[in-house]
Amino acid sequence: MSLPAVAVSQSPEDRFREYLASRPKPQRFTEQQRELVEHVFAQHSHFDAEQLIEELGKAGRNVSRATVYRTLTKLVDAGLLRKIELGPKTLFDHDYGYPWHEHLVCEGCNTIIEFQHPGIEAALNDIAAQHQFRAEAHTLIVRGICASCSAARANRRRMVM
Ligand SMILES: [Zn+2]
Ligand SMILES: [Zn+2]
Repeated sequence: MSLPAVAVSQSPEDRFREYLASRPKPQRFTEQQRELVEHVFAQHSHFDAEQLIEELGKAGRNVSRATVYRTLTKLVDAGLLRKIELGPKTLFDHDYGYPWHEHLVCEGCNTIIEFQHPGIEAALNDIAAQHQFRAEAHTLIVRGICASCSAARANRRRMVM
């Protein structure tokens, strides 16, 4: 399940190419980076670096581990990906061509549910205004138990009794 995409004028690849070219020391867009960007933006998901390395291997794409780590950092810096810190884990999520959203994370099965709610935006704007704080970004992660894990637990309890 993913949210409706946001229209953007450039492909993620072109956007990243532009970012690399505009660095103080312009960098080349390599074939390995192209493979990575193509793979990451083919489908919306939340992934960590190790997962991505495994997936790229399975897809027969030849991207070195060091390139994966370095490129992910650059993609975040370029505004194409955003980081979600989940305890010791860092996940990556689409930021370019995808609307800002929050996450519900199930501690039973690790499912991530994305949601948007105008009330949250309004509350955060109020809070920032009260503190004369200029908010630039926020990350909201709600941990808990998803509906299917709750149902499974209830079933187990019923069986014991
Ligand atoms: Zn997300
Ligand atoms: Zn669950």
